[in-house]
Amino acid sequence: MEQMSYIASAERYNNADNLYLRCGKSGVLLPKVSLGMWHNFGGVDPYERSREITHYAFDHGITHFDLANNYGPPYGSAEITMGKLMDQDFRPYRDEMFISTKAGYDMWDGPYGNWGSRKYLMASLDQSLKRMHLDYVDLFYSHRFDPQTPVEETLQALVDIVRCGKALYAGISNWPLEPLVFAEKYLREHDVPLLIYQGRLNMIDQKPLEEGILEFCREKGIGFIAYSPLAQGLLTDRYLNGIPADSRMAQEKFLKSSRLTPEMLEYIRNLQKKAVAAGRTTAQEALNWILVQEGVTSVLVGASSVKQLADNLNVI
Ligand code: NDP
Repeated sequence: MEQMSYIASAERYNNADNLYLRCGKSGVLLPKVSLGMWHNFGGVDPYERSREITHYAFDHGITHFDLANNYGPPYGSAEITMGKLMDQDFRPYRDEMFISTKAGYDMWDGPYGNWGSRKYLMASLDQSLKRMHLDYVDLFYSHRFDPQTPVEETLQALVDIVRCGKALYAGISNWPLEPLVFAEKYLREHDVPLLIYQGRLNMIDQKPLEEGILEFCREKGIGFIAYSPLAQGLLTDRYLNGIPADSRMAQEKFLKSSRLTPEMLEYIRNLQKKAVAAGRTTAQEALNWILVQEGVTSVLVGASSVKQLADNLNVI
């Protein structure tokens, strides 16, 4: 039977003292575990399962939901799912939620549906708000650096988006260090301080550490949120006994089976051993490694079930 109306758990903030961290030197607190909607919330995914996962998240104090214009598939459909959830369940809780979206990768045909022009960012955010049935998002990101567009154009679009109230804060994702340094200064000088940097950080992909991005964020009081913290599921028990048919790897799209080398399996088995010794699950061990890095605000996990999300959340 379809769940009729959602009432959030009265206990959702019981663990607040442990759960939230200040995002850089801003006024915003974010949960140490946030929920990403890149996979498992699209038009191809069972809506009731997506719904259940978001309920579990919110019921346990996960207030931050991360989207992008092209999450799905098809493109836009994760935001449509979010819009449906807002209408059905979350509208009364809007002020308790921190919702982000992004633009920067391919979204629609023609010269204005990709990269970092003002034309693209402005139109994309308008579309995102319509799909999510929202008046504003809490956070809008430039999803990637565009080397062809003047960096000032991209950044001024972020400034103006915040100024006109369509987003409360601006974020940067995947930018290399050099333009990030410029962005931090530009945004600060235009009174829209950079809230947060979103980068891929996990035990087997430590680029933001190696390239000094995390250090820069820490120094400047910018929050840092780690995406794909489980390397899309590799750093869990998911692939220890083959490739499950319902797994991301079985789709051979974003996570290829070629990643599952004997060395990688060995690495995961060792991680599992370390986890057991520490009284954690494999996923928790991988998440914990990120959360102890100084300057990290949150790990942005994906989950295809409530069970996975519960496991991840128990790292705290
Ligand atoms: P993860 O590394 O957390 O991978 C999530 C996948 O790992 C799940 O779909 C599931 O795979 C598996 N998994 C999760 N928890 C467990 C568990 N406890 N036990 C076993 N398997 C588990 O993150 P994502 O790659 O999904 O990225 C998270 C979010 O980060 C995205 O939703 C998005 O918001 C953001 N992101 C941002 C990017 C950017 O460019 N800014 C790029 C990529 C992501 P399965 O589906 O097989 O069950």
